[in-house]
Amino acid sequence: MIIEDAVILAIARPIKLKNGRISRCVIAYSEELKELIRLYPTYHLSKKISEGNMVRLMVIRGDSRDYSFKLINSKDMKKADDNIKIVKTLSKQEMSILIRSIEATTIYSLNKEHKSMGIVKPTNINITLEYDENCKLFKPYITYSCGQLCKNKGLHHQQLLDYNAYGKTRGLRPDKLRSLYNIDNVRFIPYLIVGNHHAHRNVFMVISIYSREYEA
Ligand SMILES: [Zn+2]
Repeated sequence: MIIEDAVILAIARPIKLKNGRISRCVIAYSEELKELIRLYPTYHLSKKISEGNMVRLMVIRGDSRDYSFKLINSKDMKKADDNIKIVKTLSKQEMSILIRSIEATTIYSLNKEHKSMGIVKPTNINITLEYDENCKLFKPYITYSCGQLCKNKGLHHQQLLDYNAYGKTRGLRPDKLRSLYNIDNVRFIPYLIVGNHHAHRNVFMVISIYSREYEA
């Protein structure tokens, strides 16, 4: 099928697939489907896969998670990327309006409704680094609350996958990450774009943090 209007909202850090391809998982929003959609595998050096771009793509159903799609011809990811067309690039204001138009949810509701993606309005965000023994790397984690409607007791603690957080020159430091996402700036309201793990459906990860400027 063809999706005409996928607006790229969140891009995860690159991962190596079994046959040597490098992919980034993407969460986008389609106005036509009125849903968040997951796209994979996407070419990790694609210039078209960029936050705020509205793209037209050819996809097939991906895994059994809701609204998961695979790009066609993804065995050759450069070729699959050639099929992607940029429709337009949204302005910061248009992105802000779009994010606000998507109903915010909670981790509790996502699990209850067996949904695999959502947008959460968090409070009490804390960013930490944790050492992963398996890959010998520090990884960023976010601790937060997603509000009174969430029936999960206590705070959520989830890995941050946003590719922006893993930039080589930036270095992984909690204070740098806090300023990258404007977390301590009262003029900004953070939104978390979360998605679940394909093998562990009740485990959610933060794919991206979107901070929009507060408009009085
Ligand atoms: Zn919650």
